[in-house]
Amino acid sequence: MIVLKGGTVVGSEHRIADVAVDAGRVVAIGSVDVGPHDQVIDCSGAWVGPGLVDLHVHLREPGQEWKEDIASGSKAAAAGGFTTVVAMPNTEPPIDSGQIARYVFDRGAETGLVRVIPSGAISLGRAGAKLAHLDDLWAAGVRMFTDDGDSVADSGLLRRAMDYIAELGGIVAQHAEDPGLAGRGHMHEGAVSSRLGMIGLPSMAETIIVERDIRLIELTGCRYHVQHVSARQTLDVIRRAKEAGLPVTAEVAPHHLEFTDRLVETMNPVAKMYPPLRTEADVAALRAGLEDGTIDCVATDHAPHSAHEKDVPFEEAPRGVIGLETAAAAVNTSVGLPAVTFFERMSIAPGRLLGLETGPLVVGSVADITVFDPNLSWTPGTFVSKSANSPWIGTEITGRVRATLLGGQVTFEHKEGASA
Ligand SMILES: [Zn+2]
Repeated sequence: MIVLKGGTVVGSEHRIADVAVDAGRVVAIGSVDVGPHDQVIDCSGAWVGPGLVDLHVHLREPGQEWKEDIASGSKAAAAGGFTTVVAMPNTEPPIDSGQIARYVFDRGAETGLVRVIPSGAISLGRAGAKLAHLDDLWAAGVRMFTDDGDSVADSGLLRRAMDYIAELGGIVAQHAEDPGLAGRGHMHEGAVSSRLGMIGLPSMAETIIVERDIRLIELTGCRYHVQHVSARQTLDVIRRAKEAGLPVTAEVAPHHLEFTDRLVETMNPVAKMYPPLRTEADVAALRAGLEDGTIDCVATDHAPHSAHEKDVPFEEAPRGVIGLETAAAAVNTSVGLPAVTFFERMSIAPGRLLGLETGPLVVGSVADITVFDPNLSWTPGTFVSKSANSPWIGTEITGRVRATLLGGQVTFEHKEGASA
């Protein structure tokens, strides 16, 4: 038996208690007597809640294992308090058939540190022309479909995908970025891009795709998820769609809750991601949207790139930053959600979306558990991930994952004095 001792349990009621775990399940919540053979994890001062779920990670396997692979990404996820991650299909080859999806499932299960669920491409080869093998992907266990990295620009193709995926019962997730409006933009289009003389990427490129997609949801009834919302105008569209009762959900990435386009002034490629960092008004709107539930969940968009790839001029640098190991602390620092809302946005809502058995911890729950100390400050420097392209390096953040359990097994335990 493992006993998580003295934490604040995010359960049916919110109180300080011990949580006992045995044979993969929560077997007791309350005052638990510890026997000589039990493993005890001190949770005083920490929150003990359901394991974190990340709907958006790039594990780079197959095809780009020098950046990350399923084993190293799983280790980084466990260190970040995650027990389930959804792998994006922009691998090489892309996850556009059941065979590749099964490979990702199997590698995740072999590693055994986090539940790895692949998402499937909407279009064959993510080329945006023909539908991927959607039924084959579904049969392999894929539930979320996306061409992430690119928008599905062809409205006719997206409509057919939505018709099909609605019938299967799946979710269409969209990386909303109109290719024409985005052009060759490297950063948010606004005062800072003008000052730097850099080509900008307007907020409208995101908003206009979500506007269009809402029309297609009205038509098809397909469940729809907006990936990494970055612009306040997009948030207004999502809010209206939800008010109209449409099956729409949304995620936000931790970096969009903290940084603005001012970070690009450093010309450091860790400030380059798509969608780009926007303005203070956008950051404020995203924080408010996460608090009030217009945004359902946080997803990292963990996008590893090796040092030599990022060590080039800003315009040539690849897009994206890592986020698994810093996400919980970053969200705690920038938004400061109360415990119940924190676990709702980081675990329960994304888990529900995937149809997982996630919820507040009760006796009988699957023992996917995250122990998170909301008051412990630290400064990220080194990472478990193969890559270190993080905008939080050298920035103090508050909140530390003290332990992660997957199916009752400890997959991560923070040792005092250890770096990352
Ligand atoms: Zn994306």
